[in-house]
Amino acid sequence: MHELAPLPYSYDALEPFIDTMTMQVHHDKHHKTYCDKFNAALEKHPAVASKKPEDLLKDLAAVPEDIRGAVRNAGGGFVNHAFFWPLLKKDVRPKGAVVDAIAGQWGSLDAFKKEFSDAATNLFGSGWVWLVRDGSKLAILPLPNQDSPLSQGKTPLLAIDVWEHAYYLRHMNRRADYVAAFWHIVDWEKVDELFKA
Ligand code: MN
Repeated sequence: MHELAPLPYSYDALEPFIDTMTMQVHHDKHHKTYCDKFNAALEKHPAVASKKPEDLLKDLAAVPEDIRGAVRNAGGGFVNHAFFWPLLKKDVRPKGAVVDAIAGQWGSLDAFKKEFSDAATNLFGSGWVWLVRDGSKLAILPLPNQDSPLSQGKTPLLAIDVWEHAYYLRHMNRRADYVAAFWHIVDWEKVDELFKA
């Protein structure tokens, strides 16, 4: 059985950029539901259940067909949110090798933020926008639903959840406001750790 890890900080730690109630509902209800549904699917296949969730997402074709959809959606939601929470921290100055690599590829950090923000604002429906390592390059990758970059052989470095449940209580229909707020809570030290790994 996979367990829902507690948030690595208090529910109000990201105020005012993400509000306390959103964090409570997002972690305790949405993330927990992905965890529960993932476990329910895995009950039918103990051999699959013993594998790392990330490894299942890396090779969905190897997952038994009757639970492949559940692993992709609920397993994806479980892994994506577990990846997301530790990336968020207030007041971290952008620096490090990853910021240098971003500036090298996009011309400047601001140019990257603009392209990533546009992708996040314009993604139709529910999904995530990812910064990934793709071979020797970085890339901005918008994906629908709970699809994981791992399923495309790419390594996630940063992500924004643009499902409405991630922002609606504070920002309502103004997704662009949530995306602008997101830049105040990126833990660039964590992103740099992932980049160097
Ligand atoms: Mn979410």
